[in-house]
Parts: sequence; C-alpha cells; structure tokens
Amino acid sequence: MKSMLMRMSIVPRHSRHGLASSSTTTAEMRWSGVASTSAPRVRRESMRHSVVTRALEAEDSRPAGEELDLNAAASKNTDAIARRDAAAAELTRLDALILSHDVKYYNDAAPEISDAEYDALRRAYDTIEAEYPDLKATTSAGRRVGAPVDTSSGLPKISHARAMLSLGNAFNVEQVEAFMKRVEKHAASTTPVEYCAEPKIDGASASLRYEYGQLVYAVSRGDGQMGEDVTRHLMGARGVPQKLTGASVPPVLEIRGEVHVAEDDFKRVNARREVLGLRLFKNARNAAAGAMRLLDTADNQMPLRFLAYGWGAVGANDDDVDDSSMPWSTESEFLGEFLPSNGFDAVPCLGVATTLDELMEAHDALEIARPTMPYHIDGVVYKVNSTTLQNSLGADARQPRWAIAHKFTAMSGVTTLRAIEVQVGRTGALTPVAVLDSVDIGGASISRATLHNFDEIARKRLKIGAQVVVERAGDVIPRVVSLAGDDLEEASAMDPDAKPLPEWLPPTRCPDCGSSVARAPLSSSKGAMGSIVRCTGGLQCPSQSMERLLHFCARDALDIRGLARGTLETLHSEGVVKTPADIFTLERRFGPQSGAEVPSWWRYAGVKNSKGEIKQGSDGLKQSALKLFSAIELRRKGVPLYRFIYALGIPNIGAHTAKVLATHYGTLEAFKKAALAAAKGGPESLASAALTAIDGVGPVLTQSITEFWAERANARIVDEILATGVVVLDAKVGKAPKSQASRPALTSQTPAPADASAAPSITAPSQLPTAQPMEKTMEVTDLNSMKIVFTGSVDDMSREDVHDAIERHGGVVQSSISSKTACVIAGAGAGPSKLTKARELGVPVIDARTFLDAIASGRPVPLK
Ligand SMILES: [Zn+2]
Repeated sequence: MKSMLMRMSIVPRHSRHGLASSSTTTAEMRWSGVASTSAPRVRRESMRHSVVTRALEAEDSRPAGEELDLNAAASKNTDAIARRDAAAAELTRLDALILSHDVKYYNDAAPEISDAEYDALRRAYDTIEAEYPDLKATTSAGRRVGAPVDTSSGLPKISHARAMLSLGNAFNVEQVEAFMKRVEKHAASTTPVEYCAEPKIDGASASLRYEYGQLVYAVSRGDGQMGEDVTRHLMGARGVPQKLTGASVPPVLEIRGEVHVAEDDFKRVNARREVLGLRLFKNARNAAAGAMRLLDTADNQMPLRFLAYGWGAVGANDDDVDDSSMPWSTESEFLGEFLPSNGFDAVPCLGVATTLDELMEAHDALEIARPTMPYHIDGVVYKVNSTTLQNSLGADARQPRWAIAHKFTAMSGVTTLRAIEVQVGRTGALTPVAVLDSVDIGGASISRATLHNFDEIARKRLKIGAQVVVERAGDVIPRVVSLAGDDLEEASAMDPDAKPLPEWLPPTRCPDCGSSVARAPLSSSKGAMGSIVRCTGGLQCPSQSMERLLHFCARDALDIRGLARGTLETLHSEGVVKTPADIFTLERRFGPQSGAEVPSWWRYAGVKNSKGEIKQGSDGLKQSALKLFSAIELRRKGVPLYRFIYALGIPNIGAHTAKVLATHYGTLEAFKKAALAAAKGGPESLASAALTAIDGVGPVLTQSITEFWAERANARIVDEILATGVVVLDAKVGKAPKSQASRPALTSQTPAPADASAAPSITAPSQLPTAQPMEKTMEVTDLNSMKIVFTGSVDDMSREDVHDAIERHGGVVQSSISSKTACVIAGAGAGPSKLTKARELGVPVIDARTFLDAIASGRPVPLK
C-alpha cells in the first residue's frame, strides 16, 4: 500500500544513464517523495533516505502511525482528503527544510547536504506541488530564488534592476524533451528552434552593472530581487573589466555570471590553509561563495574569477530598461562575440543545436570532459538561442521558461565495507579510507573510497562488513555516503548512547612515523575540537616532510627563491633535502667548491649558448642551482624572527601570529623557553597563562605552541637548522618609539611594530610628526601586507605581472587609493586623478621601474 501511494505521487521516469537495475527495500521508499524515480537513481535514494528522512524525522513530531492510518482509510473519499492533508503537511515540511538548506548554501557558504541530496528534496517538493497546485500559496520554495538576504551580514544591499532568477533542472532526457516541447509549442514556428548549450558552472552568481561602459557596482544574487554589494570583492577579479571598450555598449548594461575559484587556486589556497590549521573549504564553490561574504576583502586569499553567461537590464537608461537596444540577437552571439569584445570571460558556447540528439551529444561530451575542466561544472544549460523568442517565453516566479539546466548524474553503487585503512596526508591529517568489495560504478571499478574523517564514520554508523552506498561524481574521489539496506535500518534503530564501535575511533599513533596523534583544535579560539586528527610528527613524519619543507621555504616563511615545489620535490625525492637543515648545507655538499661529483639529475640541462644551441657535454651545475645557492646564502645571513617562527609550521600559527610572538619575545630562545615552561607547568600554570594572555594568542594557540616545543624532535630540528649557521635576527621588544607612533595605518594591525625586520616601515615625509631625519626608503623584499595601488603601465609587463610581483613580495594590490594605501606605484601614463588623490592623502608615489628593479635586486626604494 505504501509503495502504491508512492507511485501515485511520483511519475516514474527513465534515466538515460542506465546503470544496473536494482531492487530497493520498502524502507527506502518513503512517501515523502524522496524515493526513487528510476532504477539508476535508486541507490542514491537510500543515501537520501539517511540524510533527508533523518532530517525530516528530526523536525517531525507527527505520530509515526499516520502513514499507515492513511493507508487504512476505507472510503475513497476519506482517502483523498487524508492524502491531501498529508501532502500539505509534507509540502510545508519540505518547504522549511529547503529553506534551511538554502540559507546554509547561499548565505553561510557551508552546505550540509550534497547537491544530489538537495536536488532530491527539490524534486520531492515539485512532485507534490505538481499534484496539488492549490497548495502552492501556502509555501515559498516553489517561488523562491536563492535564500532570503542575510540582513545581519553587514554588506550593503542592492536591488536588482531585473530579477535574477535561477534555472529549472532536468535530470534525464525525458525532462529535456518536455522542456523542448513546451518551447516549441509556444514558438509555433515551422523553422526549428535553436538552442545554445553551455556548461553550468558551479559557483556563486553575481551581476555587474555598467553605466556608459563604466563598472558601477557588482551585486550577488541574494534572493533574486536584492543582493549584497560585492563590488570590492570582484574589483580586479579576472573577467571583470572596469571599463567596456567594445562597440555598441548600451548605456545601462547588467552582465550576469558565475563567480568561481579555479580548481588549481582552490587546491593551492586550501593546502596552505591546511598547513596553518585553518578551516578548509569543502569545495571551490563554497570557497567562492565564502570569499564573497567577507566583510574585509583583504582577508580573501581565493583569487576570484567571473565567467559571464547572461544579462539583466539592457537599455537606454535606468528608467527605460529595454531589450530592443541589445547589440546582439542570439545567445551564441552574446557569448561568442559581445562578451569577449568587451573584455569579459564568457562561458563557452558548446554549440547551437536544434534537435534533442544534438543537445544530448553536447551533454555527454561535456560530462566526459568534466574532470579536465579548470572549474567545477555540474551540468549543461540549454538556452533558447533567439533573444526574441526568449522574451516572448518569459519567466515564471522562479525561473525563465527559455532555459533549463541538465544536471550530470552522480553515480553510485552498493557494496560491502571490508576494512578501514588510515592514510597520512601531506599535512599530517589522518584520513580513514574504506576498503571495499570492488563494485562497478559508471564504468570504473571502485574498491577504495574516502571516509573523510573519523567523526563521519561514527555519524554514519559504519561498521566492518556492512553494506554501504558509494558515490562517484565527476572527478571527485569516490566516497562512502551511508549504510545501505538492512544495515541502514538497523543502524537507525540503534541506541544513540551505545558504546562506539572500534572502527569509529582513530588510531593513537601515526601509522607512518609512530608519533602521537592529536585531535586538532578548531582554528578559532573557541577551544572546540575539530574533526581532523593529526600526526604530531611534523617535519620528522615522512608523509609530511615534503609539504612542511615547502612551507618552510614559502613566501611568508623563509622566502627562498628557487625552492618552489618542482625543485624541492626533486631534491626531496632524491634524498638530498630531508629536513630544513639540509637546505643550508646544499652548497657545501654540491656547490662548485665542494669537489663532489654533481648528481646527474642536477647537471646542465637545456642551458643554451649565445647561438641558442643547447650546450653539450657539460657537467656543471644548472645556472638555476647556482642562483639557488646564493638565495639560500642570503637567507642564512639573517632571518627575521617572525619569519623563522612562521616557517616552523606550528599548527594554527599564521604569519600574523608569528609577528605577534616575535615582537613579544624578541628572541627565539625566549620564545622557546616560555613555551617549554608552559609545557612543563601544564595548562593551569602561570607560564601557560602568560602565553594565553598575549593579545592574539589565546588557549588554542597556546596549546599548539606548547605541544610543538614539547616534542623533542621539533626542538632538535630547530637546533639542526641553527647549527648550519642560520642567523635568526632578534626582534625588538616593547612599544613602538614615539616617532613611529603616527605611522600610517598599514602597520596598525601589528602590535608593537618596533622592529624594522618584524614590521617593515614606510615613512613618507608628510606623515612624520617632527622634522627629525628619517630614512626615506622602503624595504621591498617584504611588503608585509602593505596595501599598494598600481596605475599606468610598464613596457614589458602586463598588469597581472605587476600585481603578481607585488603579491609575491607580500603586498596587497588595491584598485583604489584610500588613506590606508601604503604607496602608489606609477607606470607610464599613470592616471592623473589617482596621482592627485595620492598627493591629497599624503600617499607616497613610486616610479614603477624603480620599484620593480628594487624588487628584483632586493634594494630599498627611495621615496620621493
Ligand atoms: Zn606521522
């Protein structure tokens, strides 16, 4: 009876992605509509059951027997009424649930369920709504776009001149076909309707408004009617031109697109965050959405990109927004010609098609290419190509009638969990990996899948020998989603206070190096423990040493040029550099004076002579190696204390905290002594309290610091580095001298910036309180988060190159001058308004050439 009811409310559909057919237990089929619509989806349903219905059950206080009562209703009439009531209740529940997930997804950039799970909720909702259209008025999910604007976010709100809608979804070929039929019925034309296919990027939507070709503001989608001002966030982002220079730009033009983070950038920034023990972004999409929610854009480390896919208001002026002034007449022309000619990055048009088969071809081709795309995509969007037909089709409350998103399938299978192995990641995180009976999912044989962390194992109540659902989506590593079948039912009946199974508990020792294992505290000072379990072995753990070394040499750390990942990986894998100390003995071991035979992998390779020919038969060192030796030598002679502290890679100690500690303790010895005293005295001791009391440290960081120094191996590694002759420069302790008290705000974030090495200063004559002679130079080897504006151009360098140079040296590129700007770098044809503003605000202006030369040579720049 239960399953009959289900069939009444759900129209079975066939998916074109036919996987193995499968039966499903009635337990998985809930009337909530979360149950399967076709065989291949069935397996995913059981996972939805786990998350979705558990969430539903948690919020639901209905008596459990209601569904059965419903089934038992004798008269057809009563049955229909009861069914309608149940449908209404279900719709309200789903509505609230969807809303809560929308808020988590759009406003908090921290979704709790997967996209597939969310789509399932939406479908369940739509199915009921389609059956009972009169219930629509009571709920909002059917009309809502995005999430209600977060009024507490602190970002200013901007209304969209034209609503920013979302897209309807199709999950199979029949739904695409139905969409085409609706369009073609409306078009009622004898010529075939053209559709433009484009990738659907999984990012966060935003709209850019241009007036007379000038960027006025950028606004996030918000609830579709009103969004948040993200102009500062997107200023300078790739694909966001400030000025449109193409032909025939309408006076008012809104360009819509997807803000995203490239996969490479995402991995790089997340890896860095992991080293620092910061909260990781789950995926690039959350990273992009999270970056757009930052109040202080200077906190953003994720390079944002904008890919344009559509338009909002287009017209002669703001009051008279009108499509007839569009300089394009088709979607493909807009994407392929108008956008690129105006400096936008546009989503690629995959092709213009008139038949279902052609659209499916585009879809399949993109699904295959998906893992190699530089950004995340989750489907293909089909849009009616003609703008005239688009306009005549119009939109309903939530989505346009002329476009649909055909989502990619998440593929899954059910198999047996045989064992749980522990892997040590490059930054020491212990990750449990499921060993499975091999199962075919979407043509690939899967026998291992990630379990994320030990809390997840417990939360999912996994146990060895149980049936589990494994999912594989695009290029994503296969993951265990939930228990399956009877095991799932059994687990949901388990006593929540039952003793944890052994497989839920992390090991106490690192499987790679035997060091003790610690549950990392969350990076915030709340003191709560995160779900990441780490090996405390640090530099001595073979799994971690490569990443630790990379961190040691990184820009904010020792900043050793020439020891980028590639070189370091070679040196590491050849066994030449195993610890930081090894870096400082490289020249002694391999340099020209060593007399040692140069390893074959480090000889001349591809060095060209003046004629451009490759030198033959030489066994000398690569020039890059010689350069590397001198870069290392430069660092050996003097490392600012804060850089050294940061380079140690103490969990949770970022560059800023390292500076705080450096200026507080002055010497490495004093810092170590204080930490060891705290370790010895325990968390209740005065020594611990003294550490905790330092502004910006707190209990979590105190724990990280004491644990680090208490580990003998770490202290030994530091001693080894110092034994190679590395000089760590002491920082001056105490308050800043009076003459520096009125330094520009750029150093105000650094407490007591007394030491030039700890906080490089920039001193402009106009900002000096007295006429006492001061050194009018700026140290450019470490720009220390100075806010810098670049204007004009430099012959042989692109804007991006200059920005990159500033950023590589620790500066922060700003697009406009404010009182917080440290200096303006002026190239040829520098904007006169910028220079005037700089003068007004007393911001020093430096010639771009002088500045770039100084960066290259490490000389200070004279300030005019
Ligand atoms: Zn280890």
